[in-house]
Amino acid sequence: MRVLFLGSGTSTGVPVIGCTCPVCTSDNPRNMRLRSSVLVRTEKTTLLVDSCPDLRMQALRHNLTAIDAIIYTHEHLDHTAGFDEMRAFCWHREDRLPLYAGSSCLAQLRRMFGWAFDESNTYQGYIRPLAHDHAGKPFVVGDIEVTPVPVVHATVETFGYVFRAAGLSFGYVPDIAELPETSFPLLCGLDALAMDGLCFPPHRTHLTIDQNVELMRRLAPKLGLVTHCGHRVEYTQLQKYLPDFMIPAYDGLEIDCSMPEAERETRP
Ligand SMILES: [Zn+2]
Ligand SMILES: [Zn+2]
Ligand SMILES: [Zn+2]
Repeated sequence: MRVLFLGSGTSTGVPVIGCTCPVCTSDNPRNMRLRSSVLVRTEKTTLLVDSCPDLRMQALRHNLTAIDAIIYTHEHLDHTAGFDEMRAFCWHREDRLPLYAGSSCLAQLRRMFGWAFDESNTYQGYIRPLAHDHAGKPFVVGDIEVTPVPVVHATVETFGYVFRAAGLSFGYVPDIAELPETSFPLLCGLDALAMDGLCFPPHRTHLTIDQNVELMRRLAPKLGLVTHCGHRVEYTQLQKYLPDFMIPAYDGLEIDCSMPEAERETRP
């Protein structure tokens, strides 16, 4: 099982429009962050997590032409606004594109893109989703088992996910302010875990870098990754700041869950 980071930035993306700060004007491509999204894939199955506003660019960049399902973390626009770009994943399939989300996100998607969910939507040129409300319960797509992990984030129902295939595990929690104790065991001891680290100062709806590291130490993945970063987080500084078992995610990073420690060896 491999994980490709299509985007690793917060809702504004980095650089932020109009900003002249050192990160937004940096020459290092690892400081350029499209909105957060990952592709989780095995030989048989390709899952996209969230359809961010940069999905078109991400698909072109990585020659992504087909997915087996789309899975949503929550309804915020930086995770849903690229919904219509998934038309391109529907042109070549006869059946509907499986879509998994919690109840609240699914209701919001139905409000925003009602035409797509309409039973009369049969035109091959539109996105034709087959909606599944996972209701927080584990589900299977192809050869990947997916476990929703309820987390606290802003005021909307939000899930992280754990993906398991062939004995390997990857956890993805891009937006989180707090991990409920009941969700803690679901994220413990994974091969790799990528989690929200928006910035250094305290934030109401996201983990800070230090809160991320503290939580990572308790959850003890083989490899911990920080994602969903804002423009106050400089890649090289963050890389030096993180403990040995952790790295910053960056756009285009691909990890092999069978040897996540390989990524740690690329540290300076
Ligand atoms: Zn977000
Ligand atoms: Zn900036
Ligand atoms: Zn959010």
